[in-house]
Amino acid sequence: MTASDKQLNLATIEKILAAVKDPEIPVISIRDLGILQGVEITGDAVVVKIIPTYSGCPAMYAIQSDIKNALAAHHITAVKVMLVDDPIWTTDMISKKGRAAMQAYGIAPPLDVGQKTIKCPQCQSENTQCISEFGSTACKALYRCEDCLEPFDYFKCHA
Ligand SMILES: [Zn+2]
Repeated sequence: MTASDKQLNLATIEKILAAVKDPEIPVISIRDLGILQGVEITGDAVVVKIIPTYSGCPAMYAIQSDIKNALAAHHITAVKVMLVDDPIWTTDMISKKGRAAMQAYGIAPPLDVGQKTIKCPQCQSENTQCISEFGSTACKALYRCEDCLEPFDYFKCHA
């Protein structure tokens, strides 16, 4: 494999990986979630580095097999998925694009820098209230909009 082949392959692999979605929030890619940390071609294998989000989050297992399946669909089967713990994942790593996709999907994204209120994903009202610290999964809290009265999940900040 020449250097330019490697470059080409790496670009292709990154494109394939950019399309792998978070199993819990299928509108956000693992890249926009900020957990895709790097891709390397070492010898004959592709090494994909991801950062675990919440410790013990069952989605991490699904993400690992989704990565392998996505690459296998492109006949790339020698794949190692490595969990790295440096840097530590925080919700600040979620991209703007990821936050917008999350909001459009109906889950309020974690508060961004400088943002003080949680916006209702349905009507964008900032008049929202926490109903329960525990939403549909441990990483979400249940909120309700006081204007349109719709309940919604808020993806909790995690630093
Ligand atoms: Zn609302």
